[in-house]
Amino acid sequence: AKAEFDRTICYYEQGMDENARYRRDMARDLWCAVERGEFYLAYQVQKSIDSGNTTGYEVLLRWNRPGHGNVSPAEFIPVAEECGAINAIGLWVLRSACEEAASWPEPYKIAVNVSGIQLAQVELIDTVRNTLLATGLAPHRLELEVTETAIIGDKQRALHSLRQIKAMGVSIAIDDFGTGYSSLDTLRSFPFDKIKLDRSFMSEVESNEQSKAIVRAILALGHSLSVPVLAEGVETREQLTVLRKEGCTEAQGFLLGRPGAIDWDDLLEASFSA
Ligand code: C2E
Ligand code: CA
Ligand code: CA
Ligand code: CA
Repeated sequence: AKAEFDRTICYYEQGMDENARYRRDMARDLWCAVERGEFYLAYQVQKSIDSGNTTGYEVLLRWNRPGHGNVSPAEFIPVAEECGAINAIGLWVLRSACEEAASWPEPYKIAVNVSGIQLAQVELIDTVRNTLLATGLAPHRLELEVTETAIIGDKQRALHSLRQIKAMGVSIAIDDFGTGYSSLDTLRSFPFDKIKLDRSFMSEVESNEQSKAIVRAILALGHSLSVPVLAEGVETREQLTVLRKEGCTEAQGFLLGRPGAIDWDDLLEASFSA
């Protein structure tokens, strides 16, 4: 049994080594990826449920890693956060996204994901201000998406940064709402302009009464706080119908558009008819 135990441990450690090596190599590559031009941005449309009009786009980071092809942000963002490369990467995303959005007609917004690591740094305030100045993007057209988990790290600092950024006229959305540890506490203490309902609720909203009841409750919460709610991960007409009936404000998901290039026809058409 001892030998078997040793073998198991040895096997386990080898496994850990491999994983650690994989992450170390990825971190090393992440540090150079901005310089090497390996990142690009995908845009996913956000629409008003009432009018069907486009309200803006969320920016999603894509990495074409040499020798590995496209790596999912769900995989490399945590590594970038762990090794600190997220600051330089996040800066590149913000700058590129604002440059892009500055060429769009009013009133379309650009929503940019911000990591908790970025949020914990006071420099973020100046970074946002300087980026707006440099790109000429009006502050009200920028939205930062922040998860509840991003906030809990250093709560006071995050709160300070968010308040300062909001004071510039930039809006703040709570991302993945309903999946954090402290959703209600987040609502109580943070300055935000939008709630993004996590997509995990969407998969069951038609079939499961309990999920539907939760969605309804979150929408009611949004109403009483006068904060719009955007539903993420909308994939079917049926889901959209439920959301419309329950008074949800905006939607995003494969049904309305997959992340990819900007649909300029849609942007120009909607801005002329507005
Ligand atoms: P997120 O912010 O919740 O972004 C939405 C994710 O849901 C995206 O995955 C998007 O492709 C996916 N999605 C959109 N509509 C649907 C749908 O109808 N069904 C399903 N099943 N999925 C849908 P993606 O692009 O793989 O990004 C994953 C996560 O990586 C993001 O989740 C975000 O947390 C993070 N991320 C992406 N870009 C950035 C970035 O620039 N900075 C930071 N800090 N994080 C980023
Ligand atoms: Ca997001
Ligand atoms: Ca989300
Ligand atoms: Ca998510």
